[in-house]
Amino acid sequence: MGPCAEIICVGDELLTGDTIDTNSAEIGRFLRLRGIAARRAVSVADATSAIAGALAQAGEADLCVVTGGLGPTRDDLTAAALARAAGVDRVRSPVALAAVEAALARRGRGLDPIQLRQAEIPAGAEVIANPRGIAPGFALEIDGRLVIALPGVPEEVRAMLAGDVGALLERRFGALARVRARRILRCFGLREAEVAARVEPVVDALRGDGPELDPLVIHYRAAGPEVDLTLDVEGIPAAAADRLERRLRAALGDACYAVGEVELSARIAAILIAHGLTLGTAESCTGGRVAAAMTANAGVSACFHGAVVAYDNAIKAAVLGIPMAVIEGHGAVSEPVARGMAAGVRAALAGHADIGVGITGIAGPGGGSDAKPVGTVDIAVDDGEASRYRRFHFRGDRPTIQRQATQWALWMVFHRLRERGLSSVSVVD
Ligand code: AMP
Ligand code: MG
Repeated sequence: MGPCAEIICVGDELLTGDTIDTNSAEIGRFLRLRGIAARRAVSVADATSAIAGALAQAGEADLCVVTGGLGPTRDDLTAAALARAAGVDRVRSPVALAAVEAALARRGRGLDPIQLRQAEIPAGAEVIANPRGIAPGFALEIDGRLVIALPGVPEEVRAMLAGDVGALLERRFGALARVRARRILRCFGLREAEVAARVEPVVDALRGDGPELDPLVIHYRAAGPEVDLTLDVEGIPAAAADRLERRLRAALGDACYAVGEVELSARIAAILIAHGLTLGTAESCTGGRVAAAMTANAGVSACFHGAVVAYDNAIKAAVLGIPMAVIEGHGAVSEPVARGMAAGVRAALAGHADIGVGITGIAGPGGGSDAKPVGTVDIAVDDGEASRYRRFHFRGDRPTIQRQATQWALWMVFHRLRERGLSSVSVVD
C-alpha cells in the first residue's frame, strides 16, 4: 500500500456556503496521480481548536495537506494552530520574510507590519514558495506525519502543487510518490454505461492473455455528454498499455476524440489552426458560451476572430440576415433559423469565419410549448460546402441545457472537420 493522506480545508466561508471547496478536489487529484490516496477531506472553521482537532483525527494518514488561513489577518490561524500542535513556537522565518518581501516588491508595494505575520511560521518548518501570491506555505513534521500548509486561494494552491510540493513528496515518500503513468481517453456522446459496455469486454479479453494488465485500474468520469476514461497503467509494460489503448480506441470508435488532458474546444482549435481555417459562432440560447469555450484556449486568435450573440430576433434578422418572415413563419427555434444563423455569421464576419455555427433553443425554465418543450435546441454548422443540422432535446435546468448545447455545438463542428478528413485522434500525454 502507498501512503495515504488527509486534506483539511480551513475557512468559515467554506461552511457558510459563500465559497465552494475546490481545493480538496484539486489536491485529491494531485495526490492520486502520485499514488497517494486521500482518505478523508474535511472543512473546518477559522478556529485554532477546529484546525488542531482535525489534525488530531487524521488517524493513519502519512500526510496532511492543509489549505487556507495563511493570510495576514486575525482570522488566519493555521500557522499558530500547527505550531501549537507541533509543540513549537511560531517564529519569523528569514526565508519566508524574503519571499513575502519579494512578492510585495513584484507588486510595487513595500512591507507593512500586517504583512509581516505571513512570515511567521512554526519553528523548524520548511518554506514552500508561492509563485502566485504573497503568503508562502510551509511543511513540518507533526506526530510522525508530514503536514503541508498552503494558502486558500485555488490558483495559488495549484501553482504550489505544481511547484515545490511534488518535490517535497518525492523527498519524503521516495519513488512511491512519483507521478503515476496513466492515460485518459476522452469520449463524447456516449453514456457512461455505454462506454463501460465497450470497454469491459476489451479489458477482459486482454486480461485473459496473462497477468500483464493486473495492476490496471479504470476510472470513469461522466459529465454528460462527455465521459473521461482514465486508465492507471503504472506497472504495466508500455507495449501492453499501448495495445490496450489501441483496442479501446477501436472499440470506442468516433466517440473517442482525444487521448490526454485536452478539451474538445482545444482539439478543434488545433485542427483549425493546422489547416488555416477560422470558426465563428452565432449564439442565441448559449449566449456566447461556445465562443467562451473557444477563447479559453491560449493562441486561439489564429482560428477564432469573433462571434455574434443574437439573442433577440431583431439581431438574428439585422446582423445575421435571416428574413423576419422566416423567423416568424418557422419560429426562432427552427431548422431554417439555425441553418440561417450558421450561414449568416459567415457572411456577417466576412473573411473571418470559414465555418459558422448557429445555435437557437429554449433554455427555460419558461418559453416551452408542446411542440418545442424546454430543452429543444437546434444547431447547425455551415462551411460553405455543406450545412449540417440537428435538433436536440436536452433535459435539465437552464445552466445544464446551456452546457449541453455548447458541448454539442462544438461536437458538430468537430464532426464536420472529421467529415472533411481534417482530424484524427491525437495523443497529448
Ligand atoms: P485564505 O488563505 O484562508 O485567506 O483564503 C483565501 C481565499 O481562498 C478565500 O477568499 C477563499 O474564498 C478561498 N478559499 C479558501 N479555501 C478554499 C477552498 N478549500 N476551496 C476554494 N477556495 C478556497
Ligand atoms: Mg481564510
